[in-house]
Amino acid sequence: METVMDTKHDRWSVAEAAKLYGVAEWSAGYFGVSSEGEVEVIAPGLDGARVSLMDVVHGMRGRGLDMPVLLRIENLLDHRIGLLNESFASAISKTGYRNHYRGVFPIKVNQQSPVVEEIARFGARYHHGLEAGSKAELVIALASLANDDSYIICNGYKDEEFIDLGLCARQLGIPCFFVVETLSELRLIIQRSKLLETAPLIGLRVKLAAEVDGHWSEDSGDRSLFGLSAGQLIEVVDQLRAEDMLDCLQLLHFHQGSQIPNIGNIRNGVLEAVRYYVDLVAEGAPMGHLDVGGGLAVDYEGANANDVHSKNYALEEYCLDILEAITEILDPLEIPHPVLLSESGRATVAYSSILLFNILDVTHFEPGPLPEDVPAGCSEPLPRMFELYRNLSLQNVQKSYNSARYYRDEIREQHRWGHFSLRERALADNLYLAIAQGIVQLLPQLDRVPEDLEELRDDITDIYYGNFSVFQSLPDAWAIDQIFPVMPLHRLDEEPVRQAIFADLTCDCDGKLDHFIGGRKNLPVHGFNEDEGYYLGVFLVGAYQETLGDLHNLFGDTNVVSIRINADSSFDFAREMHGDSIADVLSYVEYTPARLQEQLRDRAEQAVRNGVIDVATRQKILEAFAASLRGYTYYEP
Ligand code: PLP
Repeated sequence: METVMDTKHDRWSVAEAAKLYGVAEWSAGYFGVSSEGEVEVIAPGLDGARVSLMDVVHGMRGRGLDMPVLLRIENLLDHRIGLLNESFASAISKTGYRNHYRGVFPIKVNQQSPVVEEIARFGARYHHGLEAGSKAELVIALASLANDDSYIICNGYKDEEFIDLGLCARQLGIPCFFVVETLSELRLIIQRSKLLETAPLIGLRVKLAAEVDGHWSEDSGDRSLFGLSAGQLIEVVDQLRAEDMLDCLQLLHFHQGSQIPNIGNIRNGVLEAVRYYVDLVAEGAPMGHLDVGGGLAVDYEGANANDVHSKNYALEEYCLDILEAITEILDPLEIPHPVLLSESGRATVAYSSILLFNILDVTHFEPGPLPEDVPAGCSEPLPRMFELYRNLSLQNVQKSYNSARYYRDEIREQHRWGHFSLRERALADNLYLAIAQGIVQLLPQLDRVPEDLEELRDDITDIYYGNFSVFQSLPDAWAIDQIFPVMPLHRLDEEPVRQAIFADLTCDCDGKLDHFIGGRKNLPVHGFNEDEGYYLGVFLVGAYQETLGDLHNLFGDTNVVSIRINADSSFDFAREMHGDSIADVLSYVEYTPARLQEQLRDRAEQAVRNGVIDVATRQKILEAFAASLRGYTYYEP
């Protein structure tokens, strides 16, 4: 057995590590494994400049930024914006489309100011705009965009204040559209624009019948929550005409849902929407803009398939299919091509953020030391379990598994009734684990592995305790079973011989990562070495995760670091933000840290008065309490 393991270990290479974790498939070329066995970021457009994530981790430590850290790589964010705009530009020139593309980033997907500011700064060269779904997001959009040709698209329910703010944008000359989602807000838009004597730009969100695959399929079809039906579109047109404002109707919008894995669905959606566009032109609206919403998916699994965590198309195909669907309908009718807008959020920001965390502890499901023989006086079925353990072979794996499980459960039951002692129960558990380990080692030699034996692997998988909170940093992993690529950041020149799931710091049984790419229920990892530390990354977490995270168990925002990689493979810490302190999170849930300090002071004073502690101890307790309030909410070394 040892010789086999050793040979395997010798043969191990970093290329095998990259293959094992599917790096080439999910990383879109932004990540790789270095010859030193570390994950590295490959900076796009910088002639192969690359930076090891472990170098970034060491740099953070020197700056007092403990794990967990959300790392943003500005080069990747810029590259995604560039890629989206250049891909549409290239598809426009290939198809002979006679208008241009304008992207808008939906702020809800990542509202953090460093992200939105960078999109506004870098995106200015492409006139990349912003989509706002609320008053607060409109405030961000108005202040962030410096380019007069960058669009602001206002979705969501709009009250008077929202509309007035959008009209202010119009007064400033910003192309800011109100996308009408309900008839009631149309009345308000008409009213306020007359009062402020400002002509609004109006768009309509249409509810498409075309349905989509994937997790957000309910955002499409007749029962989707948002958008106007065919009948309501007519009502809007009639109302605008009656108010002599039909010339304000210049955009049609639809959004079929996020992460659409199937390109066929996207094409069908565009075909249906363009038909409505034609109808609105026929009604006399000037139109001129088509906004195809979000939905451009990210291949989290790298499977290149029509699957919730994947997609069956490339960006180039997405752009071409949209343009072809538009021209297919408009050209025979000689209707001019509209300005094409899209609201890609996920595909713009997912790649640029990585959650980095370290491992604090490990639970192994391995048998403790077993006696040479059944201890004297042990009653059945313990001796029978011993026999199973001794006689386990390739020929009897299934039978041994069935019996071992049956005997173990029987002993557990009998222990509840006091018929087995604690030592006997522990022996039974150990024997079961020893048999389970033995079976799992034999599985590769079986022609076909039965399902229950395959699941046995899960029973003996290690639990690695990670310094992070799923609820704060990876809420979609908990809420909708979203799969993100996870892998160790170092030691990749060494074969990962253990299998693990990850438990987070919350004391919640849902606070774990136990689904991985490729349908795996565990991840190959290296043995944990406390002195060296063990670091992992959860990749592609830039979309939605930061905004949806919550304070479960009062774990707050993590430290955040933005780096920019230079052409000589050096990197700068462009921004660093310390995460929430304990005092911060307590104030979010309406505690007043100063008052808490006061309460503890009173209690300590009382203890001094009662002779329980002396004054010096009182002082130390109060200092420790004050230090805790200033501390990080996560595990600090
Ligand atoms: N536009 C609208 C109206 C949305 O509701 C969303 C999110 O679902 C988006 C754009 C962003 O979608 P995605 O992240 O799939 O690009």
